[in-house]
Amino acid sequence: MPACPSCDSEAVVKNGFIHNGKQNHRCQDCGRQFVANPENKVISDETKSLIDKLLLEKIPMAGIASVVDVSEPWLQGYVNEKYASVPRQVNVRPNKSRLPINRLISQAVTSGSTVLIAEMPMIVAGAFG
Ligand SMILES: [Zn+2]
Repeated sequence: MPACPSCDSEAVVKNGFIHNGKQNHRCQDCGRQFVANPENKVISDETKSLIDKLLLEKIPMAGIASVVDVSEPWLQGYVNEKYASVPRQVNVRPNKSRLPINRLISQAVTSGSTVLIAEMPMIVAGAFG
């Protein structure tokens, strides 16, 4: 039986099933109900900022997931979301005026976006390759 996510008590009993068929549990100490599902555990802001740093170090996603103890599917979703929210300023310029990569990076930095724009393709390639 999983421990209670609120009080860490192991006095936990089964408590029926939730809408999607997953086993629901109830803590006998604090009364909290929960579904044991590590994929859906809440990732703290601290963990996220650590992940951000590790991503900048070009560490493969599998390595990050194992170090910060999150699932790879979660991490992939997190990175995708992050990537989607980064303004794609690099793509604004037409191909004919393609800049050297170091210009692109310094441009991204000076324009206030992060270097992630330049590094993301590598990270994604590492994750899916
Ligand atoms: Zn509890």
